[in-house]
Amino acid sequence: MPEIKKTFDNSIVHIADMPEGYSGPGFMATSLDKAVGLARANSLWPLPFATSCCGIEFMATMASTYDLGRYGAERLSFSPRQADLLMVMGTIAKKMGPVLRQVYEQMAEPRWVLSMGACASSGGIFDTYSVLQGIDKIIPVDVYIPGCPPRPEQVLEGILSIQQLVKNESIRRRNSPQYKELLAGYGIE
Ligand code: SF4
Repeated sequence: MPEIKKTFDNSIVHIADMPEGYSGPGFMATSLDKAVGLARANSLWPLPFATSCCGIEFMATMASTYDLGRYGAERLSFSPRQADLLMVMGTIAKKMGPVLRQVYEQMAEPRWVLSMGACASSGGIFDTYSVLQGIDKIIPVDVYIPGCPPRPEQVLEGILSIQQLVKNESIRRRNSPQYKELLAGYGIE
């Protein structure tokens, strides 16, 4: 659990856990993977790809009661080139599929994808000819959030799950044959 501290004006601040390593008076040693993972996990730049009602729940997650900024992810990006977490929220029509894929492809590595709600994850109640039955048909997904709509607490849990993935990811993963094979499975080079 992150350490909790109070500042001079009594607001609560969550201190990120220190990575595993070796420490003594005045120094701390850890691996590069862990140091980079710690920095990346606590400074995610989400790109909200919100098409319908789930997007409203995300707005609530950003607002003061839930305050996504407590996890270092309050800096939203509306340019794929300056984002590392694609959050897909809402019904994705098949016509919108190529747009979503283009946004994903324009994001630089390392990038993560969070699918929020039944519609993005599986088409939800819209089992029709025009709705994509899950975004993982066109792009790889790292974390799914169930629900219709998911509550902001679930969104926060999804972000925490992404943070765990980010913290524990090897900095070499994106160059690994397994990752290239995963992308190749989606026809992405
Ligand atoms: S999962 Fe439910 S709340 Fe979310 S976009 Fe679909 S219908 Fe709306």
